[in-house]
Amino acid sequence: MRSRLSGCASRVPRPGFRTATTAFPGPFDCLDRGCETVQVSTFEGVHEPLVARDVILGRTTHVRRLVPNKTRRMIGAWCFLDHYGPDDVKATGGMWVPPHPHTGLQTVTWLFEGLGLHTDSLGSRQLIRPGQLNVMTAGHGIAHAEVSPDDAPRLLHGVQLWVCLPDEVRDSTPPDFTHLADLPTYHEHGVTLRVLAGSVAGETSTAPTFSPLVGAELTLVPGAEATLPLDPAFEYGVLVVQGTLRVDGVTIDRNAMSYLGQGRSELSFAAEHGEEDTVLMLLGGEPFDEEIVMWWNFIGRSHEEIVEQREAWNGEGLAWEPERYGVVRDFDGDRLLAPPMPNTRLKPRPRSV
Ligand code: MN
Repeated sequence: MRSRLSGCASRVPRPGFRTATTAFPGPFDCLDRGCETVQVSTFEGVHEPLVARDVILGRTTHVRRLVPNKTRRMIGAWCFLDHYGPDDVKATGGMWVPPHPHTGLQTVTWLFEGLGLHTDSLGSRQLIRPGQLNVMTAGHGIAHAEVSPDDAPRLLHGVQLWVCLPDEVRDSTPPDFTHLADLPTYHEHGVTLRVLAGSVAGETSTAPTFSPLVGAELTLVPGAEATLPLDPAFEYGVLVVQGTLRVDGVTIDRNAMSYLGQGRSELSFAAEHGEEDTVLMLLGGEPFDEEIVMWWNFIGRSHEEIVEQREAWNGEGLAWEPERYGVVRDFDGDRLLAPPMPNTRLKPRPRSV
């Protein structure tokens, strides 16, 4: 396979990304270092920090909620992003999310450290480890549970993502659970790219998607640099989960996220020098034009629809079996009932304010 990485960019555009393990002060100063030529970007990209909200799930699990954010409710079809850990599961009790329903979305589970167990109303039972992907498509309705198994290692670190399904398919696509043990991975010059969903740098994931989007993890050894080709029609966001990163020369610290807007045809990443690798999530997609209602674990298009989805789950209480969502048989404990509806009507909202 032809190399998709190089220390300095050549005149011929490469299909993949290029990297340098030497530390350049800026993303494009190959010009000053004796390289023949490099594309000089005149594009002035958006860098909008997405500030995390601390949310407590259950009794002990703290998460940093990055999407939806005050100003940005979505990045492409990515409509939800919780980042948690690294947490000591001995201290927190680990992940304990009893059976709950979903509608109109896909859940995407990705771990940086630890071990998780997924069970659902289709009868799936799946362990997930770092580097593996769980994608569950709710369609009209599904229920699942996610817990830390008894033999889980000490540290748990991961992200929980949701992808909004377009109106056209959200009710008609059948509920599905897909586990991908091996994802397309490209490694060169201290940079490892793993594609969770969609395509980037010539690597394509087989995860089911319903709108043009991409999700990827990049790991850079200290001092490594990479330039990744992007789709200018997509909007993008970058979350740093370990180390410190410069993106287009702008520093993004650990646990921070930046919304990068649309119109970029490439993006330069540079990891700080230091002890540890830098790890980031890149999320992107075509701006999602439908206005949606997100409430609890449901996505609909109107207040009435959410009321219907909630009633179809809560029914007549815990002992009741919700036909629309099915039952997670492989779980020892009660399902989670939805809270009361708010007093105000839920309004469909656009992707940004
Ligand atoms: Mn869930």
